[in-house]
Amino acid sequence: MAPAANKKGILERLDAGEIVIGDGGFVFALEKRGYVKAGPWTPEATVEYPEAVRQLHREFLRAGSDVMQTFTFYASDDKLENRGHAQRFTGTQINEAACDLAREVANEGNALVAGGVSQTPAYLSCKSEDEVKAIFKKQLDVFVKKDVDFLIAEYFEHVEEAEWAVQVLKATGKPVAATLCIGPEGDLNGISPGECGVRLVKAGAQIVGINCHFDPETCVKTVKMMKEGVEKAGLKAHYMSQPLAYHTPDCNCQGFIDLPEFPFSLEPRILTRWDMQKYAREAYNAGIRYIGGCCGFEAYHIRALSEELQAERGFYPAGSEKHGNWGSGLEIHTKPWVRARARRDYWEKLKPASGRPFCPSLSKPDSWGITKGHADLMQKKEATSQEEMKALFQKADKC
Ligand SMILES: [Zn+2]
Repeated sequence: MAPAANKKGILERLDAGEIVIGDGGFVFALEKRGYVKAGPWTPEATVEYPEAVRQLHREFLRAGSDVMQTFTFYASDDKLENRGHAQRFTGTQINEAACDLAREVANEGNALVAGGVSQTPAYLSCKSEDEVKAIFKKQLDVFVKKDVDFLIAEYFEHVEEAEWAVQVLKATGKPVAATLCIGPEGDLNGISPGECGVRLVKAGAQIVGINCHFDPETCVKTVKMMKEGVEKAGLKAHYMSQPLAYHTPDCNCQGFIDLPEFPFSLEPRILTRWDMQKYAREAYNAGIRYIGGCCGFEAYHIRALSEELQAERGFYPAGSEKHGNWGSGLEIHTKPWVRARARRDYWEKLKPASGRPFCPSLSKPDSWGITKGHADLMQKKEATSQEEMKALFQKADKC
């Protein structure tokens, strides 16, 4: 399917000062719905269950998303083959189907299609720059053939790998956005957010920022540090944030991966729609104009971003048809004490209870401190053996 001819591109929109609302996290949403397997987190659902992927795109579009990101997270050939994950489909098939689905739904509204690449097991296994770049190039060939509107390199823990990705994506001449999954402490080699921002802009990214691993508050803070670094270096860029929809005040530099609740018991940490409105405002005030989400974000979270920024954007999303601003729909609730909640200050001041009497409010991160180059991170095609699993259980119990 061809792109719609009359749409403004991503840089035209941002250069004009428009707010771009991103979409939410596909792997987490589709895992809960039974279409993605936690562990590999690979997106073969684009071929296996296209209707599930299409529906999720539609929900985000209806919530106000201006970008349909291709569901190609971890769709590099090396990841698809990693650790015995049986592949019935080729990487090309998965990537092509993802582009078609994103384009189909984008054309139902004013949204753009962004082709996305993410960090590779090859990099963590210390493969060479040429080998890692060849992996990105293979996905990129599909994005070029399918004529996506722009490209996103996202979810990188090491700025070096993100630079390599940007250099490859840049060669197409399409606009490039790059986001790292790091916090204020910097990338996993300790390179500061400010320096990471400078390196990504110098590599050719026009939009830089942060995605995944941390809550909105932490991500906005980290993007601010990036922005300061970029401005201090006399460079120019647009800024982007796509955080988790989970509160992570207790995280270390590895983000939510190190929380004991990752990934199957994170629900008590989910942000409310009102938390999301606060995030949208804080991001906007920080000068971030590409505002979206990552893991944990559902359509109602994206709708909350669109609603908070409706005055600046000049319109409500279609999904607001079923949502009264600040709970105003409750004015017609049967119970009078619920009708009394139809006001902004009620929801803004509320401290939601978790309903879990024996649970702590914070956790202690695992902090194994393992990253690129460590033997336990080397890429393997076979599944981890029972013997190897036993050793891991013992190590975890001692920590
Ligand atoms: Zn994520």
